[in-house]
Amino acid sequence: MTHNLIVGGGVYGAAVAWELASRGDEVQLIEARHIAAGASGGPGRRGVRANYRDHRELPLMAEAHRLWPSLHTRLDTAPLFERTGQLLLVERRGDLSAAEARVSLQNRLGTPTRLLSSGELHEMEPGLVPAIEAAVYCPGDGVADHAATTRAYAKAALSAGAKIREGVTARRLLVENHRVIAVESTAGEAFQISGNLFLLANSGVRELLGPWLDLPIWNLPFQVLLSRPLTNNPVRHLVGHAHRTLSLKREQGDRLMISGGRLGRWDPVRQTGETIPEEVAANVADAVAVYPGLEGLEIEVSDANHLEAVSLDGIPIIDRPPCLANVFLATGWSGHGWAIAPAVARLLAAWCLEAERPALLAPFAFSRFG
Ligand SMILES: Cc1cc2nc3c(=O)[nH]c(=O)nc-3n(C[C@H](O)[C@H](O)[C@H](O)COP(=O)(O)OP(=O)(O)OC[C@H]3O[C@@H](n4cnc5c(N)ncnc54)[C@H](O)[C@@H]3O)c2cc1C
Repeated sequence: MTHNLIVGGGVYGAAVAWELASRGDEVQLIEARHIAAGASGGPGRRGVRANYRDHRELPLMAEAHRLWPSLHTRLDTAPLFERTGQLLLVERRGDLSAAEARVSLQNRLGTPTRLLSSGELHEMEPGLVPAIEAAVYCPGDGVADHAATTRAYAKAALSAGAKIREGVTARRLLVENHRVIAVESTAGEAFQISGNLFLLANSGVRELLGPWLDLPIWNLPFQVLLSRPLTNNPVRHLVGHAHRTLSLKREQGDRLMISGGRLGRWDPVRQTGETIPEEVAANVADAVAVYPGLEGLEIEVSDANHLEAVSLDGIPIIDRPPCLANVFLATGWSGHGWAIAPAVARLLAAWCLEAERPALLAPFAFSRFG
């Protein structure tokens, strides 16, 4: 018997385990594979980006930006967050008005943001193609090592008294009087719960909740590419693009990470993903179109092995399902759940301990779908 049971050992499961355990609550986490096996693992680093985020997530992101710089001290580990600044490139004149509206909205919602003229931009990123008109710049944005952060949360949770079991797949919820009393694993083991159940299994949440709630989410295998070391890496900031499916990050060893939302192919039987050559080529072509000096770049790692749940309206569902009194769920991150994780995990723990939904989480209620 445990008081709180968490299903899922990604950043959310590990961070909520730490938040609860470090406040003295009893907590056990079960993970189907190993810590950081899902979207919170894999090559490269993740963007900690407020720039061009859905406006409903911006207040959360402002809170996350407050937490990221000192997170490593709280978890007693090596630095995790690197502040690089994020540039959202505007290549088409027609996208400029939207960029101006963005700058004003983001400043109003707590994210310092500037519109850079072509001159300022090309001074900051001299390798950019001259055709880029302007950029929306968030100096507070950066990157973090996702696997290292997730493992650091898990280690800190263990030190604070949480129990973690890897290699345990939750198969179904056992419910009595609208409360989950246990979670049964595929091996037939029952994990009894006296308090709350946290469904933080990202791509696995929809199936587990299926008998009670039809979540409007589905799973996608996003593509990530890592280049071979470059002799002259032209990318200085975290870079995104207003109309190309493109995100660029400098990585260790003079490598470049290329991503942005292109998809690989998922094999549901083997539960693995692989990249599609045309999608790899298109991602590289976009990178070269924006930084011509990348011509001839070679790809060392191409990965599509980390499923992410995406939602119908592109923001997560963070809620308590109305039909199950002791359950919290958080999923449907839609490709941008990483950056807000420290803030959301803290708010989820507060919601559980104080029995009141934090105002910052209100926009993510399931009821928005009717
Ligand atoms: C390629 C890629 C790039 C991304 N880039 C960014 C970015 O730059 N910025 C950003 O903010 N976000 C980004 N994201 C999104 C971000 O990484 C995710 O939103 C976040 O890591 C989700 O964390 P999680 O803990 O909810 O899920 P996960 O890390 O997927 O963890 C869920 C865990 O649950 C386990 N599980 C599933 N089903 C079960 C079950 N039945 N029983 C037990 N365990 C189960 C899985 O094995 C998994 O380990 C990216 C995602 C991907 C895939």
